[in-house]
Amino acid sequence: MKYIDYKDLRQKLQNHEITWLEAYDKIINSTTKPWDTKEWKEKRPNFIGTECVMCGRKNGDPCTKGYYEYLLQHSGEPIERPTVHLVLQHSWHPDTIDHLCKNITYRYKDEYDSYFRQTVYTKGPNNILIRNIDADELKHIHKKLSVKFIDEKYPELGLEAIYKYLDQFERYMSMKDTSTYCNNCAEREDMVDRSICPLCKDIYISNSSACCYECKDTEEGQRLSAEQEKRDDEISKKYWAFLEVIEIEEDQLHNKYFNEPLTNEEKELIKKRLEELENMKNNSWDYIEY
Ligand SMILES: [Zn+2]
Ligand SMILES: [Zn+2]
Repeated sequence: MKYIDYKDLRQKLQNHEITWLEAYDKIINSTTKPWDTKEWKEKRPNFIGTECVMCGRKNGDPCTKGYYEYLLQHSGEPIERPTVHLVLQHSWHPDTIDHLCKNITYRYKDEYDSYFRQTVYTKGPNNILIRNIDADELKHIHKKLSVKFIDEKYPELGLEAIYKYLDQFERYMSMKDTSTYCNNCAEREDMVDRSICPLCKDIYISNSSACCYECKDTEEGQRLSAEQEKRDDEISKKYWAFLEVIEIEEDQLHNKYFNEPLTNEEKELIKKRLEELENMKNNSWDYIEY
């Protein structure tokens, strides 16, 4: 996440002083972090609370037992249990500008694919032969070409993407999606998506556990674990039911495709639907409520 002067950029776009591509470059090339800016530092005191919403620790309280044990194990000699300090943690992050551009090119996938092939195979960006480049470089070429593609074919969509980015960035800077965490809990959530045990508030657990191993034997721990298990069962039932519906339709379509006299057009429709179904299977979690 980099800081851009979003008000200035919006103004310049509205006044047609810069193109969407120039705005894109500004966004890509900015290096300051939002939390290093004056704007952020001035707003921060209005949003930060007095204790971590996850573990309840306050500035200067000893850090969690789990983290302390981890440090102890790795230090080789006795250390003092460190203390926490409070930070503002975002629950929501804007899309990156590259992500937004990628979405546009994805909308015109076939067109973009042929554009990509033409450019890379016939001219080759920087005279690179496509068979000799590695995956990272290919990603970089895709990124560069998708921006070029948008600029040549759909500049108005490029502009739309920039405005969308600015809107999202503005929401990020408004800080309305922040909560107060201690640095311990924030780090766990960012790095390994772990939260604190709701019972002892001292040990971090994965999102699939109801509480930590030490609390599991308590009465409350047993109750939470049973509830969690019930929830997991329900989700897995929904998942299998979803798959079954898709597979039944797939079977019917396969049978139709191979056993019935069909026109080419009908065959194409079946292939398209099968592709859709395959896609739904691959993204099944988008379709299941849990
Ligand atoms: Zn905490
Ligand atoms: Zn616990």
